[in-house]
Amino acid sequence: TYVVTDACIRCKYMDCVEVCPVDCFYEGENMLVINPSECIDCGVCEPECPAEAILPDTENGLEQWLELNKTYSEEWPNITQKG
Ligand code: SF4
Repeated sequence: TYVVTDACIRCKYMDCVEVCPVDCFYEGENMLVINPSECIDCGVCEPECPAEAILPDTENGLEQWLELNKTYSEEWPNITQKG
């Protein structure tokens, strides 16, 4: 899965949401997150993020961010389906 990290905090860009083929971005408290159980690992969103906030979870040190992406996507609405 891909993971949204701290560079997204209070970011206003939605480029990632627009390109995701499975609409797996969710709203979090102060950032967007990716639902790890819905992400198909296509990688399309990573270069689209102007803040370079999206990383593959294969990179080191992302455990806490992965956990936050998981938690927020369970508790917050899907950003695309919100309308
Ligand atoms: Fe969506 Fe693909 Fe990014 Fe996963 S890697 S969040 S499926 S665009």
